[in-house]
Amino acid sequence: MSVLTFTDQYIGGKWIPSASTETVDVLNPATEEVIAAIPAGGAADVDAAVAAARSAARAWGASHKDYRLEFLGHLVAKLAEAQPEIVETVVAELGCPVGFATAVQAGLPLGVAESYLRILADYEFEEQVGNSTVYHEPAGVVGAITPWNYPLHQIVAKVMPALAAGCVVVLKPAEDTPLTARLFARLIDEAGFPPGVFNLVTGTGAAAGAALAAHPDVDMVSFTGSTAVGRQVAEHAGRGVKRVALELGGKSACVVLPGADLAKAVNVAVANVFNNSGQTCSAWTRLLVPEEQYAEAVTIAAAAAAKFVPGDPTSPETRVGPVVNAKQRDRVRGYLNDAVGEGARVVVGGAQAPDDLPTGFYVRPTVLADVTTDMAVAREEIFGPVISVMSFHDAEDALRIANATEYGLAGAVWAANDNEAVAFARRMDTGQVDINGGRFNLAAPFGGYKGSGVGRELGRFGLEEYLQTKSLQFRVA
Ligand code: NAD
Repeated sequence: MSVLTFTDQYIGGKWIPSASTETVDVLNPATEEVIAAIPAGGAADVDAAVAAARSAARAWGASHKDYRLEFLGHLVAKLAEAQPEIVETVVAELGCPVGFATAVQAGLPLGVAESYLRILADYEFEEQVGNSTVYHEPAGVVGAITPWNYPLHQIVAKVMPALAAGCVVVLKPAEDTPLTARLFARLIDEAGFPPGVFNLVTGTGAAAGAALAAHPDVDMVSFTGSTAVGRQVAEHAGRGVKRVALELGGKSACVVLPGADLAKAVNVAVANVFNNSGQTCSAWTRLLVPEEQYAEAVTIAAAAAAKFVPGDPTSPETRVGPVVNAKQRDRVRGYLNDAVGEGARVVVGGAQAPDDLPTGFYVRPTVLADVTTDMAVAREEIFGPVISVMSFHDAEDALRIANATEYGLAGAVWAANDNEAVAFARRMDTGQVDINGGRFNLAAPFGGYKGSGVGRELGRFGLEEYLQTKSLQFRVA
């Protein structure tokens, strides 16, 4: 495959040469080949992008929502048309299997984008509170920093509500998946948005990301990524008294209470973790089952895991591709080796390279048994296809284990009935819980408790993250 070399950034409604001559290579994780090089933008590109955004902020922010809806509608149409190209790009730069990429990597952001057309059409930006008129006004210039695991979804989940709210955006996407971000910028351009409303700066987190997070003319930073980087972003935002939204890591628990459908719960949990090669922040990486049913649960998990054979992501049969890069592969394998050293048992998978896949950043989908709360695999985010099966004595013990991490992003409860599951879920320190197999809802608020973050994305709650309120008081006759 030929290497595409890009030298431009999307700033002020145009593709202009990056101020940086350095580049970052983009690799195909399945072939390990360099497929593109993108500019490693730094402070100068960020300055130009923020200035372009600032000059567009007042008019876009003061516009009627119907005006913004027109452009956002064009963008949704472009996203729909570009579905095959989005799939091809995400498969190439993330190594995501084509089936999952079609349904989720391309389909989910289209659904989210469409949802914001309805939300904006219905939203009232003005309300009466006693003798005050309260206006919901845009936060201003938004610095959006996104990760690579769901490259387009993470972008759309920030940019759509921000633009709908009347904010303007400078996006710094993950350096592993910038081609999806460039494709998105092209669709914005084709949709005809006013110059400066959306700007893209590619580059490393340490240079472009840090410059954007610390920029004095950025009013709000919306960051999705690791908790370690999220802390740094929050420190910058704190110094500048900026608004900040943080969507961070997770170590979510799937709790199967006595009386639940064990086979169904375990099968759903294994797929939940192995999809996207385990690179899902909300994945239920800890499976908690009653000790009386432990052996049975491990057997079911092993059978479910055997269906996830790593392979070529371009094949429609493949359910698990590689992980995103060599560092991530080595990190996951390191966790597996440490887990075995700490007394965990590998039921399926393990740290050794998969058979017949000498090339590509592949990790064996792994089921670990005999995992206890003191082990690193039970506390830290692995971000690979690894599920840890843990046992509990009773519901109180299950709750203690479920809450025994610094994270609190998602989770699941399976019980004999919804009432019992809800009673348990209400005591979990986490932002989202799926009850007895409840499906993902793209209009429900998504975000974390504790170390998993601050703020919510998606739906009306996601729009309101980008709004600030002003109240005008009137004399009462
Ligand atoms: P990361 O934190 O390394 O990088 C995320 C983004 O931040 C990238 O664009 C990166 O370039 C940038 N960045 C890195 N250092 C920076 C700095 N010093 N200042 C500003 N920006 C910087 O995370 P990752 O490896 O890209 O993604 C994986 C992590 O993201 C996992 O921990 C995962 O749980 C988390 N995640 C969370 C959610 C969520 O919604 N809660 C969603 C997806 C991923």
